[in-house]
Amino acid sequence: MKTIAQSSQTVLILEKQNFKFSAAHFLIFDQHTAERLHGHNYRVKVEIHFSARSEINEKGYFIDFNVFKKIIKKTVDAWDEMVLLPQNHQDMKFFTQGPSLEVRFRDRFYVFPVNEVVLLPLTNTSVEQMSALLGEILLKEFLTYGISAVQVTVEETNGQGAKSTQYAKTTGDVPSEPLLVRAHE
Ligand SMILES: [Zn+2]
Repeated sequence: MKTIAQSSQTVLILEKQNFKFSAAHFLIFDQHTAERLHGHNYRVKVEIHFSARSEINEKGYFIDFNVFKKIIKKTVDAWDEMVLLPQNHQDMKFFTQGPSLEVRFRDRFYVFPVNEVVLLPLTNTSVEQMSALLGEILLKEFLTYGISAVQVTVEETNGQGAKSTQYAKTTGDVPSEPLLVRAHE
């Protein structure tokens, strides 16, 4: 009799109304062009994948949604009502002067209260890079719950955004070195 291999995967989806942050940024296109400073009401969606060895518990669920919701909310809140700047772009220069952060970008000069700016470890504050960074942050937080991957979608306007997937390392599942097979003597 023919058997059909069957497998399934369940993914948790969290896209709560309060997973949002309003922030100022500007995109840098090339050596001569960059957007002016402006803002978006960003929205965030998170999808959580579990590894095959994590099982739905006896009660019929993985983990209380509230555990993840609190972590996601805390993470996006850190970027809310902030100026987001790409720390790793070669043309961005930062100088702290007491409570102020002076920012030089080519012929531009900005001064912000230092506690209203988040310097992101990125070369551009694009939704592509921001979704990947949020994914990295959330993956670290979620690892203890046995997740295998996290996908983060960041929309800067309705229907316009980027989705990144961050995978947990599969150490333990896949041998990192070839197994030595000893022949019987
Ligand atoms: Zn923008």
